[in-house]
Amino acid sequence: MKGPRLPYRYDHYTWVELKDIVKNQPVVVLPVGSTEDHGHHMPLDVDSFLASSVCEAAAQIIPDQVLVLPAVPYGFEDHHMDFPGTITIHDDHMLNFILDITKSVAHHGFKKILIVNGHGSNATILETAARRTVIETDVHCGMLNWWSMAQSTLWKIGDSELQSHADEIETSVYRYLNDEAVQMDKATREIKIPESKYYWRGWVRGKGASPLRMMDHWSRISDTGVIGDATVATVEKGEQLFKAAAQGLAELIKEFRDLPIEPRVDRH
Ligand SMILES: [Zn+2]
Repeated sequence: MKGPRLPYRYDHYTWVELKDIVKNQPVVVLPVGSTEDHGHHMPLDVDSFLASSVCEAAAQIIPDQVLVLPAVPYGFEDHHMDFPGTITIHDDHMLNFILDITKSVAHHGFKKILIVNGHGSNATILETAARRTVIETDVHCGMLNWWSMAQSTLWKIGDSELQSHADEIETSVYRYLNDEAVQMDKATREIKIPESKYYWRGWVRGKGASPLRMMDHWSRISDTGVIGDATVATVEKGEQLFKAAAQGLAELIKEFRDLPIEPRVDRH
């Protein structure tokens, strides 16, 4: 372990301590990211770094109500494999790996588990993992994408029409957390919003996500890896977006912790 023991870190306790902590029923939070291309301007660790940073910041607001697990640094990336460096975990492996984690946590008596996602293409798999955890154990398990806690702030303070990938929000937040690792001179803008009622990529200002769900090979739809506008990202926007996400997540965790688990009823 590097640095001090942190009160909200699951893996910073001894097993004897955890045996007592479970009685307080903190929400156990699992950040999940990716190792994949994020434009010419950001390193491969964006999704893992941002998801775990938002979780840790939320936990600092309510440290006695949360335990944060070590982040899963890989995700489902088959459509990104044309970009050097990307590591993909196939969907069935990913689902079972996440289920192994959530069911281990449930086995030790924790009743509330929250998966916090940093990579869009993990979302459906993580939602399935959360649902299966609920069905196959006696706990509540849910998932959310961290940026959903910052999206309304993005539309207020952001400049781009589209949120998707390695874009204004991800680049701004990364800059706020570690500006030295972002090469803004290499940041690009790639926005092609089709004239369509039913299909576009990412979240479009005023429209949200498209009704038709489809993910193409990333190399067909992006030259640099960016979809969105990374050139307008700033440290100041990143601070506001990050703080909105952490505050929103802390509130959500509190509410999720208090949500009662009702008894099942066999109505045959
Ligand atoms: Zn990303």
